[in-house]
Amino acid sequence: MTDWRRILMQSLGHPGQLAARFPGQGAGLEAVCARYPMRINPYYLSLIREVGDPLWRQAVPDLRELDDQVCLEDPLAEEDLSPVPNLIHKYPDRVLFLVHNQCAMYCRFCTRKRKVGTARMQIGEESIRAGLDYIRQTPAVRDVLVSGGDPLLLSDARLDQLLAALRAIPTVEIIRIGTRVPCVLPMRVTPALAAVLKRHHPLYLNTHFNHPAELTPEAALACGRLADAGIPLGCQTVLLHGVNDDPEVMSRLMRGLLRFRVKPYYIFQADMTRGTNHFRTSIATGLNIMRSLIGHHSGLAVPTYAVDAPGGGGKIPLTPDYLIERGQTVRFVNYRGEICSYQDGDY
Ligand SMILES: *Cc1c(COP(=O)(O)O)cnc(C)c1O
Ligand code: SF4
Repeated sequence: MTDWRRILMQSLGHPGQLAARFPGQGAGLEAVCARYPMRINPYYLSLIREVGDPLWRQAVPDLRELDDQVCLEDPLAEEDLSPVPNLIHKYPDRVLFLVHNQCAMYCRFCTRKRKVGTARMQIGEESIRAGLDYIRQTPAVRDVLVSGGDPLLLSDARLDQLLAALRAIPTVEIIRIGTRVPCVLPMRVTPALAAVLKRHHPLYLNTHFNHPAELTPEAALACGRLADAGIPLGCQTVLLHGVNDDPEVMSRLMRGLLRFRVKPYYIFQADMTRGTNHFRTSIATGLNIMRSLIGHHSGLAVPTYAVDAPGGGGKIPLTPDYLIERGQTVRFVNYRGEICSYQDGDY
């Protein structure tokens, strides 16, 4: 068995197992895990410093998950936007193709919490074949986002086969992989995996780091291997209360990602996913973080802050307002708070 599979097998899957490392913790969480699975692998567990820290919050079940009166089962209407199961076609030219139902860790804030890691998410040869058929028959689709669950938990051979099948479709221009593996199980990114991915260019990979404490030497090695295989790396961070809803934390994360050769791509406002209401922040908090990044850091460190509109409306970018007055003379305020102006006209 490969090392990463062994590590995954040693994951904590029951809240009762938490007490061995954190005495007194985990009691009373069985009902939460019966509804939403728990998986904390030994690598991610080793990064948790103390009860309630930002990594703990992402990984350890919380009673509040069962007491969410506000959020929705499927806030992005993914099920309604699926022409075949496990394939979401929301934008004209790109689809989200779910190819695996498990993850290296079950993030408590997951937007697909309703089904990820459970029997409610049925993915197999059949659904993958149906997804490939749909993409073949829908030439408008130029960009296929392979996600899940986590596609990098598939074996190298199955992944190779799947990517080759996508590559064989002439209308598919780019392939994107969405994976949290470089953050939560970086040892999965073996030289052999990088070699498989490299065969299917142009291939992009968006990963998902939420806190600078996740930027470990192991994660650096994983990202370096992927970048060396010529894969442009992006990061889709989720803005989470008690994890990264702080300008200083977010700034360290964005700068650290760039040092890993990962370009911050999105910061998402937390989706209104049932069971995650305790993670949500105000949009004002997100805009304030963006204000602290823009201008103060390299433009490369500044992602797009977006809310994925409930109901399937798509991602709406949100930018702090720098405009003061819009007339013949447009007046703005810059990142330092100074007033600037520009003479507009009908050119
Ligand atoms: C986010 C998303 C995409 C990709 O959006 P980009 O802005 O191109 O990254 C595509 N399909 C679905 C269903 C999505 O949620
Ligand atoms: S890795 Fe992604 S899909 Fe899996 S539980 Fe975490 S957020 Fe959800």
